[in-house]
Amino acid sequence: MNQNYDYEIIVIGGGHSGCEAALAASRMGCRTLILNHNLDNTALMPCNPAIGGPAKGNLVRELDAMGGEQARAADFATLHLRWLNTSKGFAVRTLRAQCDLRDYGSHYTKTLASVPNLYVYQGMAAEIVTDSGRVSGIVTVAGERFSAKRVVMACGTYMRGKVHMGLINFPSGPLGQVPSGPLSDSIMKAGIELARFRTDTTPRICRNSVDWDSLDLQSSDPQPEAFSHWGEKRVHTGHFCARTRTSTVTHDILKAALDRSPLATREIGVRGPRYCPSLDDKILKFPDKESHPIFLEPVGRNSREIYMQNFSTYMPPDVQLEIIHTLPGCERALMLRPGYGIEYDYVRPTQLEPWLETRAVRGLYCSGQICGTSGYEEAASLGFIAGVNAALSVKGREPLVLGRDQAYIGVLVDDLTSRGTDEPYRMLPSRCEHRLIMRHDNADRRLSGIGRDLGLIDDERWGAMTARWIAADSEHERLSAARIQANDRTNEILREAGSSEITEPVPALDILRRPEVSWNTLTRLTGTNLDDESGTWIEIETKYEGYVERENRRVRRLSAMERLRIPMSLSYNVVGGLSAEAAEKLTAVLPRTLGQASRVPGVNNVDIQLVQVAIERLRKSQTVESDDGE
Ligand SMILES: Cc1cc2nc3c(=O)[nH]c(=O)nc-3n(C[C@H](O)[C@H](O)[C@H](O)COP(=O)(O)OP(=O)(O)OC[C@H]3O[C@@H](n4cnc5c(N)ncnc54)[C@H](O)[C@@H]3O)c2cc1C
Repeated sequence: MNQNYDYEIIVIGGGHSGCEAALAASRMGCRTLILNHNLDNTALMPCNPAIGGPAKGNLVRELDAMGGEQARAADFATLHLRWLNTSKGFAVRTLRAQCDLRDYGSHYTKTLASVPNLYVYQGMAAEIVTDSGRVSGIVTVAGERFSAKRVVMACGTYMRGKVHMGLINFPSGPLGQVPSGPLSDSIMKAGIELARFRTDTTPRICRNSVDWDSLDLQSSDPQPEAFSHWGEKRVHTGHFCARTRTSTVTHDILKAALDRSPLATREIGVRGPRYCPSLDDKILKFPDKESHPIFLEPVGRNSREIYMQNFSTYMPPDVQLEIIHTLPGCERALMLRPGYGIEYDYVRPTQLEPWLETRAVRGLYCSGQICGTSGYEEAASLGFIAGVNAALSVKGREPLVLGRDQAYIGVLVDDLTSRGTDEPYRMLPSRCEHRLIMRHDNADRRLSGIGRDLGLIDDERWGAMTARWIAADSEHERLSAARIQANDRTNEILREAGSSEITEPVPALDILRRPEVSWNTLTRLTGTNLDDESGTWIEIETKYEGYVERENRRVRRLSAMERLRIPMSLSYNVVGGLSAEAAEKLTAVLPRTLGQASRVPGVNNVDIQLVQVAIERLRKSQTVESDDGE
């Protein structure tokens, strides 16, 4: 077999984003190369090996529904699994899996190796090669040249990575990996603007040195669950998380050492993640708070390392150890790895099309943390979208752009490409205006058809999925016509559920509409063979019926404006009455639809109305011109 140097698609980076991009592109039939500068760090989790949680769990389910891999990797590696946000309602409840770091990476490594037209190679990309404004390949630091029609960059936090521990800093990638140096220069030379962000992680301590008996332990949920729609649901035993907390003693140590923190001394001037602040940040911003919770979480089945969630820090190692010893249960803890901060280059995402192609270099896509995000789930989602779009473009097909009313992934891409971000972007439920109809439980109904069209869901999976929908729909229909009889047994079950008794037959779905009546209670009243997951879908659709209908009406109303295409020939500088700021911002972002334009910062409702009028005028004049020409 000859070594190949010519590909349809090259993906730079074997992290969460690069793996998803490469899998999507190769599974769609493109000859793909994934180039990673260290094959042993494939899908490495440099921070907490946890997948899911609020909004992030929705991303994982959506990715899975379209044929992405992350949910399966998480299911393979899960140590501990819980439903979160259960008290806040079905719309925002989601799974969170604490994973085995090695198993997670090895699932991706095995999967990459199993796809026939996907080639995995160890090498560091140093240069993007372009030809008349189009990408044509890459060159590695070792001087190897690879040609490609499309290139996806997924370099994470490695580009000109610099690690900070106290006032000491040095070039490094995360977890002691080699940073990616020369690529940044090549990207900037190609006309793409880079900026810097920072992020941080916690110290890891030795499992055997923690006094677990003194802490509240939290086991996995008792019912079997899985992230993937096709995954085997399991109960996870043998691993637990525990909660400890900081105290005023901890905070006094931190405050006394602030002159050794690069955040306090402003040694690092760049922005970090607002929604996942370091302990140093918390002490600086909330000096009066007396305690912060810290969670001790396992990182692997066979690992002694314990991750300290909520305790990322830039402090020097000696201060970190002193702080650890103030935490209940950790008085004699042994530190295995100190925490650190890292700063790195990212691509300002407003330079990207809504299908993640750069405007400066055609055929070059960006995905993952280099688009300004933070998080494995955000990275994987962007990787999938970039990989799919690179493949669609090779095949000469229209790009895939998910709407804000279709998927959290649509919100993620739209926020980044329309609004940009001035801090590492993390997905949150509050970013998603249509979250009532974009839930964890209905990701398959929303998105699996798209995955099927892309060729990413095979016949077996599609058959299993459609059979599940048919069974759920027919049970929903049966229940819509069913009535619950008023008798002693019914009233006993209702009493047990804390619900009021009935004196005459009541429609089954009216009973299910009661907040205290769950799917399980209804099945005791009516009997059913339906699986619990489909039952939960019926329960949610029933309980939220009125809200869901209203939301769907709202989406239909907004969709005409949302999807109104802006002709590429529209020049914002000649749109009468448009403010100079709006014209400048719109020219920089070049939104594709009026909906996208409305979210560009600095553009207001009046500006949008003016742009709408300009689009209509332009359309009319083009129609008149073509009529004249006939
Ligand atoms: C210290 C730290 C703390 C974090 N804390 C959190 C957190 O609390 N919560 C959270 O959700 N997320 C956190 N993250 C973010 C999360 O780890 C990332 O968002 C995620 O890993 C990004 O995935 P990615 O695929 O974009 O990049 P990465 O996972 O960084 O992968 C990039 C890949 O590209 C390869 N690469 C880079 N340059 C080149 C090149 N020139 N040639 C070839 N290969 C190259 C690297 O080897 C690597 O395999 C943290 C990250 C770090 C570093």
